[in-house]
Amino acid sequence: MSFLDRIRIVLVEPSFSGNIGSAARAMKTMGLTHLSLVNPPDFMTNVAMARAAGAHGIMMKASVADSLEAAVADCQLVIGASARSRAIPWPLVNPRQAASLSLQQSDDVEIAIVFGRERSGLTNGELALCHHHVHIPSNPEYSSLNVAAAVQVLAYEMRMAMLGDSVDYQWDTEREAPPANQAQMSGYFEHLEKTLIDIEYLDPHKPKLLMTRLRRLYMRVQPDNSEMNILRGILTQVDKLRAKLKD
Ligand code: SAH
Repeated sequence: MSFLDRIRIVLVEPSFSGNIGSAARAMKTMGLTHLSLVNPPDFMTNVAMARAAGAHGIMMKASVADSLEAAVADCQLVIGASARSRAIPWPLVNPRQAASLSLQQSDDVEIAIVFGRERSGLTNGELALCHHHVHIPSNPEYSSLNVAAAVQVLAYEMRMAMLGDSVDYQWDTEREAPPANQAQMSGYFEHLEKTLIDIEYLDPHKPKLLMTRLRRLYMRVQPDNSEMNILRGILTQVDKLRAKLKD
């Protein structure tokens, strides 16, 4: 599949249908077609159709999910667009770097670019589902773009990267296995959390930021399937040994 066909634009809980139409138009002008909406409002409105103009087809074909996790379950690279910096710093790139690192992925990798709510952006939990965060270096005194305008900037950079105007970004192209997808990563984090509680490393009453920090660590390296199997295997072995010790 071509580069642009592997990119999906995810809008999380947009409250204004007009923005969905504008985002569809922004996408189509740059050759992107996959739109995914998490808990959207009723979006087949006149305003949305008018804003989408010739791109209403993208809106009509949009897939709908009830959580960000579900919307990106099969994606191996998830990039979250954020208008501000967060309590926990995450690998942060600008749109050009985001496009460059997306282009460097092998051609079986599904990519999601995630945009937040008009009012409140993405939650910390949603941002933690992402491998990288992307920030458009806007005016620090007024940094928040309209969500469809942010989609336009990212879509433009993806297109420019495809056209060959990208800066180099080091990436390991010699992978033995495809990178793990979001569902595999989430399964791993659940297992890890359970095992860490079992071995009393993690106190569920005082979890602090441990799981967030571990998530950030594992997301950063974007493990592949065979690495994921090793990590899962270690946890399973710990679980087995614990059961044996209990007997
Ligand atoms: N008040 C919200 C801003 C929401 S803007 C907040 O402070 O988080 C809606 C969405 O547009 C954001 O969640 C983000 O995905 C995108 N966006 C807006 N400005 C951006 C910027 N400068 N860089 C990256 N994404 C941006």
